[in-house]
Amino acid sequence: MSAKTILLYSSTVENATALMSGFRKIDIHAGHIVLVVSGTGVDSQQIKEIEQCGTEKIMIVHTGDDFAETISTALETTVHEIKPDYVIMMNDPFETEVAARLSVKIDYPCFTNCLQISEKDGEVQLDKMLYGGVVVGHYVSSKSLVCTLNENMCSDPLEMSGKVAEIIDVTVDTDRTKTSKTIVKREPVEKTVDLKNAQKIVSFGRGVSKEEDIRLIEQLAEVLDAQIGCSRPIVEDYKWMKVERQVGLTGTTVNPKLYVAVGISGQIQHAIGIKDAQTIVAINNNPNAPIFDIADYGIVGDLYEIVPKLVDSIKNHRA
Ligand code: FAD
Repeated sequence: MSAKTILLYSSTVENATALMSGFRKIDIHAGHIVLVVSGTGVDSQQIKEIEQCGTEKIMIVHTGDDFAETISTALETTVHEIKPDYVIMMNDPFETEVAARLSVKIDYPCFTNCLQISEKDGEVQLDKMLYGGVVVGHYVSSKSLVCTLNENMCSDPLEMSGKVAEIIDVTVDTDRTKTSKTIVKREPVEKTVDLKNAQKIVSFGRGVSKEEDIRLIEQLAEVLDAQIGCSRPIVEDYKWMKVERQVGLTGTTVNPKLYVAVGISGQIQHAIGIKDAQTIVAINNNPNAPIFDIADYGIVGDLYEIVPKLVDSIKNHRA
């Protein structure tokens, strides 16, 4: 199989080290390997830390700003020059955005969150995470690709190769104002809830039928000394809670010691967000609710009867 040209991209020197560690686990026959590092703060002193990372060239791309749009335009120019078979970067939010933008510009399919990449019978085979990590998808492609590597691939310390890369400084003149307009102004939201680090969470869903009944949930959270979370409809449809309390695929992924799901059906998009919870207690009046498939303890019944009893019994137990 012919040797492949690889373009690796990193937005920081730290990411470049992790990226190279992940790249070493990829089973493809690499010929030319070029690492591109961008960022207004990157200087040649920092690059010295990675000059023996194992690539033949390191290009420091200087752009006027650090927007994903600008960087992807700069990378497009580099791709046209070196014509890589694969463009590979880390799966962090910024680089994933760069990957998506670049993929459209150069018309390479984009595979994010890859867990493994290898070549077999002239084709590339990829395993990638889907639905927030619930399943792994296996793909086969014969095309040139843009890929981002899952952070677990990139966690090993990087051993330097001993061979110093050629360092090339490139200035790319990209004018972001030609392609983008600011149409919204975002005010920073003061974050008061930290569900990600909460040890205990009492979460509620559409089983709570009126806004004033959230008081029941608050009482249970108080006696358990827990934070309050909720399902998406509580935020999106009812607007009873802010998005910072939403648990799930498009909310926060949590890993508390105790997660109490009150009147939550446990659809996959919610279940993904609590898969790392140590103990899940579910209260639901439908014995067939999917939440019981993942709960450690299940109480089938009306939350309006069960929650007050639970609050009293915890209070009595404490007393
Ligand atoms: P329902 O599904 O309506 O469930 C209510 C439950 O309450 C039922 O099981 C019912 O039996 C029970 N119940 C009713 N009355 C009582 C009572 N008196 N006592 C006890 N139990 C009672 N959802 C999320 O939560 N988080 C996400 O991040 C998220 N992301 C999404 C992303 C996408 C792209 C999509 C398409 C959907 C997403 N959803 C998300 C929505 C998800 O699919 C479900 O629609 C949602 O989780 C359901 O919320 P729920 O369990 O509160 O409501």
